Amino acid sequence: MILILKENAAPEAVRELTDALSVRGIDAVRTEDGRLLLQNADAADGELFTALPFVRGAYRLHEPTPHYARTEQTPDTYVRVGAARIGAGHFALIAGPCAVENEDMLLQTAAAVKAAGADILRGGAFKPRTSPYEFQGLGREGVRLLTAAGRAVGLPVVTEIVDVRDLDAMVDVDLLQVGARNMQNFALLKELGRAGKPVLLKRGMGCTLRELLLSAEYLLNAGNAQIILCERGIRTFEPSARSTLDLGAVPLLHELSHLPVLVDPCHAVGRARLVPPMAKAAVACGADGVMLEVHPDPFSAQCDAAQALLPTDFAALAEKLRAVREVL
Ligand code: PEP
Ligand code: MN
Repeated sequence: MILILKENAAPEAVRELTDALSVRGIDAVRTEDGRLLLQNADAADGELFTALPFVRGAYRLHEPTPHYARTEQTPDTYVRVGAARIGAGHFALIAGPCAVENEDMLLQTAAAVKAAGADILRGGAFKPRTSPYEFQGLGREGVRLLTAAGRAVGLPVVTEIVDVRDLDAMVDVDLLQVGARNMQNFALLKELGRAGKPVLLKRGMGCTLRELLLSAEYLLNAGNAQIILCERGIRTFEPSARSTLDLGAVPLLHELSHLPVLVDPCHAVGRARLVPPMAKAAVACGADGVMLEVHPDPFSAQCDAAQALLPTDFAALAEKLRAVREVL
């Protein structure tokens, strides 16, 4: 097993660990680049080691260090999406409707979010709905409307891909979203690893951070280095909100990985009035970007109506998010 230590690991703490290990028959050798090579440590110990405050990661020796892993040698990754950048100190605000419903509402929303300072326009065309009787999205026509709206207002666009057979419809899409329900669709991930486009990978609602990172590894291992991780709420025993927004994931993912981390508070809390406080909290805990659903008339929205912000509320929140960033 190999332990990657944090840059500020206190030598006394490391010595205490190596002494304790040697009593248990585990030899620890410090490498030149500051890692700790452990002989005879079985894999189950990994979790224990990563709980130590000065250990960044624990990996089995016969496995290569994962591409997602933060090491002393890996600088933070930033992902380019059109003119926007996200990660490594660059912050991006993504906004737009849950679903592309028609040209008018999309253009209206696109103009409003652009004017309020959004960097990327979102809009679902292939919607992964829980029920087959709910609005499924406009499909290829939705992608066409989205890319046209992005061009019209001067914003790059992100949309979800649910099936690799739709990839040819996405040539003008700047960022491909893999939704929570497809985080472990490994066939899709392998294909998107070769697609030559940045990917926004959302955390599955029942998935751990390790599983999220290993899904990112599928993309990275297939040759795609342009990956953004996204926390969007997980299912817990708490029923009051749609999901539980796991903001601890943001600093944890930043510790474990060099990849940018985005937060989507809308799908997590599920109600518009709860979105601004959680969006501000996301920025405060170090998110590299926030994704928000905006609709000009939420009451008529065909998808996720309860969690959509009005354009004016989005503009006010965007201003607050800039203020939080400035304070930090
Ligand atoms: C979305 O962002 O449109 C979406 C469906 O989100 P999630 O996959 O996180 O549920
Ligand atoms: Mn939605």
